[in-house]
Amino acid sequence: MSGVSSGPHRDLAVSVGQHSAAGRKDVNQDFHGLLVPTPPALGLKGIVVALADGISSSAAGAAASETAVKSFLSDYYATPDTWSVKNAAQRVIAAADSWLYAQTRRGRDPHDADRGYVTTFDTLILKARTAHLFHVGDARIWRVSGHSLEQLTEDHRVVVSAAESYLGRALGVTGRAEIDYQTLAIAGGDIFVLTTDGVHDYVRPREIAAAIAAAGDLDAAAAAIVAAALASGSLDNLTIQIVRVDSVPEGAPADLLGDAEGLDPAPLLDPPAEFDGYRLLRILHSGPRSRVYLAVEAETGVRVALKVLSLDLRDDPAQRRRFVMEEWIARRIDHPHVLKAQPPARRRSHLYTVMRYVEGQTLTQWMRDHASPDLEAVRRLVEQLVRGVQAFHRLEMVHQDLRPDNVLIDAAGIVQVIDFGAAKVAGVVEGDPRIDPGEILGTVQYTAPECFLGAPSTAASDVFSVGVIAYQMLTGRLPYGDAVPRARTPAAQRRLRYASALGVRPLLPAWVDGALRKSVHPNPLRRYQALSEFVHDLRYPNPAFTDARPPALLERDPLLFWRLLSLILGIVALTLAGILIAQSPR
Ligand code: ADP
Ligand code: MG
Repeated sequence: MSGVSSGPHRDLAVSVGQHSAAGRKDVNQDFHGLLVPTPPALGLKGIVVALADGISSSAAGAAASETAVKSFLSDYYATPDTWSVKNAAQRVIAAADSWLYAQTRRGRDPHDADRGYVTTFDTLILKARTAHLFHVGDARIWRVSGHSLEQLTEDHRVVVSAAESYLGRALGVTGRAEIDYQTLAIAGGDIFVLTTDGVHDYVRPREIAAAIAAAGDLDAAAAAIVAAALASGSLDNLTIQIVRVDSVPEGAPADLLGDAEGLDPAPLLDPPAEFDGYRLLRILHSGPRSRVYLAVEAETGVRVALKVLSLDLRDDPAQRRRFVMEEWIARRIDHPHVLKAQPPARRRSHLYTVMRYVEGQTLTQWMRDHASPDLEAVRRLVEQLVRGVQAFHRLEMVHQDLRPDNVLIDAAGIVQVIDFGAAKVAGVVEGDPRIDPGEILGTVQYTAPECFLGAPSTAASDVFSVGVIAYQMLTGRLPYGDAVPRARTPAAQRRLRYASALGVRPLLPAWVDGALRKSVHPNPLRRYQALSEFVHDLRYPNPAFTDARPPALLERDPLLFWRLLSLILGIVALTLAGILIAQSPR
């Protein structure tokens, strides 16, 4: 079945030829598969080619290879849209591995490898302009290079002697197989080839390349190569898959985030006004990026927050994309501490977002109302904020703009993270790198130091923002004052001095300050790696912080320190002067 095309020219399109045969064996324990999805899955997940070679003298080998390929094809596409290819594929392969291992152990003689549900596994995933290769075992992935093939994977084969070798790594053996992973840039005309050893042990790479070049049809080429391997005496099952990249996407796939991007931004109306099935009641917020209305769905009476792009940004395509992404993200996170999207009342005539309305206040307002809140109140809010942020991180997203204005607290005290306009979504950035321009999108006071060095933001950057927010709730100040955005070299960042929260709140336990300090460490590797540890350390004394001596006066109160020092120096100077005068000859 060659000529599998995946849509209009600007999409990724491939042609595929495949052939598999039992050869001189009774059963074919190889299993192969291919899935070319339609958009938007094509842009978000890509095209999957998978090949497995079951290793066993029993039927278990065939079951293992079939399970590995089939479960991969279905489960990979069921992973969250937000995940990167690497994360999604590795998790799905790991799940298949442990399932196969459980079957192996359930077999009659668990130590007899021949009864094992053991298989090699290779998958080539083509997404946007990148090929992702996952490999375990001794099947191979190649790329046609000139008149021959370049082998991209390394066989996991342990050679004992000239006559004897065995498979060093496979699925179903330990349940914890290490999977090789690599990526390559692709271009139109690239040809990838996947083979099992029944083919590549008997046909030379040059012959494979020649057969592909000679045959007009990739299926015919695949069949000819298998026939050649059989003729050369192959005793094994034989499978080959040939994938030719016909075109790679030019520009951004239009449908990656849905079709809202093509709409004109909604006008800035003055309430009361009617719009697209909504009654706009009043303006909740009007800022440089957006205007947010409290609105009512005319038909149902449901109150919503309707957000419209500001005049300044509406002509910028990148801003429009980010705007579309906000609702796209909201529809994919279902968490009590993350703002939810509200399905639109009717087909949208313009670009705007509709979210659930949260009746309450921003954390900014809360901080104004609670100048010196008790520690327990802060913990309760931070814990909820953290749970919301963790929901982002589990989906491989970095919020990138956590700050008090983007945290809402409703009348019942429930915290919700809002404003996903700056969020970075791993799976979407892969599909369209222009979505992540790498510039600082957050608000500088809460942005992690590494972002000012041009490093990509990670979950650890969100940890920094959460730490700054917690610090600010307790002290009303920022842990480094306004120094972070100005520290734009590693040396300058090493000079950043954390101002102990005890300087403002001396009665705070020192270990709470230790937790705050660690959460905002300038070096992302020395910050909390898990937000759960941070909230734990805010509640229970961590011995690492309790053993520490109380902070020196310089840290606690730099101003007082320098005043005292100048006073002492002044006294010393006066004394010295006095001595000099006393000693000077009259
Ligand atoms: P921007 O990208 O312009 O910062 P936000 O989504 O952060 O836009 O919204 C701006 C402000 O509007 C918030 O700080 C909050 O005060 C208010 N707001 C936004 N969404 C809601 C909502 N769902 N419910 C109530 N108020 C909201
Ligand atoms: Mg905001």
